[in-house]
Amino acid sequence: MRAPVAPDLSERRHDLRHGVPVPFASDPAAGYAARGSASEPADLGAVVKARAIQCALSRVCGLCGLSMSGTTTFVGSPAESDENTFAFPPMHPACVDFALATYPSLGVPVLGQPVVRDEWVVVETGGFELERPDLRGAPVLFHPNSVVATTVTTAG
Ligand SMILES: [Zn+2]
Repeated sequence: MRAPVAPDLSERRHDLRHGVPVPFASDPAAGYAARGSASEPADLGAVVKARAIQCALSRVCGLCGLSMSGTTTFVGSPAESDENTFAFPPMHPACVDFALATYPSLGVPVLGQPVVRDEWVVVETGGFELERPDLRGAPVLFHPNSVVATTVTTAG
């Protein structure tokens, strides 16, 4: 049983078009200027490479941007799960719940996905490996390596 802790999104910018917080991993702005401020419409499906690397190396959550310990959780498509390769950085369990309740219903690509998706896979893992691309411009990818649980869910 996980504790029902609400995610702390107070440091995230707000996407005024959709009325949602901009996930840390999707936000090109960072640092003090980004905190809690309103923003231009963000690309909610994007994963900013520098943020993804920051998430992996500093162990911070792809949604709230705060530090993580213990089990981390990936969200992605069934194909990403089958290939054990995720584009969106890991999140706190509570942030995953918030993300799936918030973003897929917007009707735009979200959470590192190139298309609108209504089926999602949630993978809990004790750890992961980061794949840094050889090619400039290619995405950073995450490979869970100690999977505890995999759940398929529909959202949106
Ligand atoms: Zn979080």
